[in-house]
Amino acid sequence: MLINLTDVLSCEEKVVKRTVETELKSFTADLGSFPLSEEKPLELTLTNLGDDKLLIEGSAEFRTVIPCDRCLADVEVRIPLSISREVDMKQTAEGRIEDLDETDFIIGYNLDTEKLVYGELLVNWPMKTLCREDCKGICRKCGKDLNEGPCGCDTVELDPRMAVIAEIFKNSN
Ligand SMILES: [Zn+2]
Ligand SMILES: [Zn+2]
Repeated sequence: MLINLTDVLSCEEKVVKRTVETELKSFTADLGSFPLSEEKPLELTLTNLGDDKLLIEGSAEFRTVIPCDRCLADVEVRIPLSISREVDMKQTAEGRIEDLDETDFIIGYNLDTEKLVYGELLVNWPMKTLCREDCKGICRKCGKDLNEGPCGCDTVELDPRMAVIAEIFKNSN
């Protein structure tokens, strides 16, 4: 959704509050694509700081499903966002790119709420996801979920070449 900023920028110290339901249904990054659902809509507060500077503050909360790093089970994760960004409206889009300023959510005199939220999700995305603190993961030999119990594999790490021989030996029994 695009929010026109001319109103808030019309006079100094003006504050505009908006509640926005974003249309983000999924999040795609280097790690893959994840479903998104909005737990709390984006509550935006836009403040004209004067001198063509705009303060964008907001909060929102999203829910997603991320596979456990160890056993790949689906884990429901909540991602709360707390946004605080100051934007210099005098800067042109080209100037921002040159400054490596990542305010791609400002398009002319509009605020693109999806882009704003997407950037915040990128920064707040969990680095590590576990279904539980002591997840035992999957056996690297037989693929069994070790949370359900031991698989009976030899847990001693074999030399990969030896592992192949061991596998042949096991199959011939
Ligand atoms: Zn797990
Ligand atoms: Zn196993």
